[in-house]
Amino acid sequence: MLFERAKSVFPGGVNSPARALKHLPSPLVAKAASGAYLYTDRGKLVDYCMAFGAIILGHAHPRVKKAVEEQLEKGWIYALLTEQEVEFAERIRRHMPSVEKMRIVNTGTEATMSAIRAARGYTKRDVIIKFEGNFHGSHDYVLVKAGSGAATWGIPTSAGIPQEVARLTVVVPYNDIDAFIKAVREVGDRLAAVIVEPVAGNYGLIIPDVEFLKALREETQRAGALLIFDEVITGFRVGLGGAQGLFGIRPDLTTLGKVVGGGFPIGIFGGRGEVMDLVAPSGPVYNAGTYNAHPVSIAAGLAVLKELETGEPYRIANEAAERLAKGVEDVAGRLGFDVVVKRMASMFQFYFKKGDVKTPQDVRESNEKMYLKLHEIALKHGVYLTPSQYEVNFTSAAHGREVVEETLAALEKSFQELQRE
Ligand code: PMP
Repeated sequence: MLFERAKSVFPGGVNSPARALKHLPSPLVAKAASGAYLYTDRGKLVDYCMAFGAIILGHAHPRVKKAVEEQLEKGWIYALLTEQEVEFAERIRRHMPSVEKMRIVNTGTEATMSAIRAARGYTKRDVIIKFEGNFHGSHDYVLVKAGSGAATWGIPTSAGIPQEVARLTVVVPYNDIDAFIKAVREVGDRLAAVIVEPVAGNYGLIIPDVEFLKALREETQRAGALLIFDEVITGFRVGLGGAQGLFGIRPDLTTLGKVVGGGFPIGIFGGRGEVMDLVAPSGPVYNAGTYNAHPVSIAAGLAVLKELETGEPYRIANEAAERLAKGVEDVAGRLGFDVVVKRMASMFQFYFKKGDVKTPQDVRESNEKMYLKLHEIALKHGVYLTPSQYEVNFTSAAHGREVVEETLAALEKSFQELQRE
């Protein structure tokens, strides 16, 4: 069996923890993907994980494929400056004006690590504040009370991180202004930066109060610290201007990834010119990478941005998420389940609980077992929901009406089956 072979070569049989589904005997094995569908060892599935949000146009989108093929014809790596990466960056800045200058790296993890380093270099301070349940990748500064796979698997603070390093990361409850202000006072003039997911997408979906985000902006300014918006998920997903455009808040630094690479590895950190000018070679904050601004990722990303600029992909993806959110609410309500549904643009998640979900604590109080049971049942009916209560469902421009109807019919059956369990 493939999983046995996989377990003998990979820890847990996978190369990223979120792929090892803890409620199933073995992980899904992918064979191909196209549009809204994944082709796996369990058959054809409507995909709502969409590579954890990396895909917004749909799998194997023809324009992205063409751009990548054209790039391959010209060779795929030069480790030199290219015209395309300049055009790509100019487009990003046009849509996200707070990103005056940027550095293009390979993953969201590198992007947040480097943004934090730049903030420390700029402020000459060492402590950062992050929020409980937010996930910023898998490096030492941020794997403290993290979300995503770290929360799913119950290891929100990783082993192997020196105490001295972990002590420099102060963790505060998400969406709690008082706790945040108190922490800023306590850290005082050692505070280099506050890093936040402006919409939290790694602990289910938690939509913040605008007042919370405003408080982050005001307090960091007052404290002489930088505000970093981690928009690896929200950047170019909730709209061309990201969450910062939606909420009208200008962070000092921003990190991007996922959507902007069109499904190829990418990460970007950028922001105020005077901060970014400290990055090597123009300054002493070091960052370098053989694969930085990889031509294939840039080609794919450019193709995605051009499509997104038409507005059409957002219209389809958002409408799909809206209908699904409403459909889940309806069917769950009809069958007598207490379910809370949260949606923003093309992201949604639902929780088996009464009341509302506004904090990580609310997410923890929901019935994770029921979510996972429903996930397992839905899989049998051809729907691959996001595989953890601590992740979100994503729709894409390939999730047209027919796909949504097919999904809702499958979910109706799944909820009925769950009721009979
Ligand atoms: N930040 C956020 C908000 C993320 O959701 C993720 C990945 N899920 C990362 C950073 C890390 O990105 P990558 O997986 O590309 O390293």
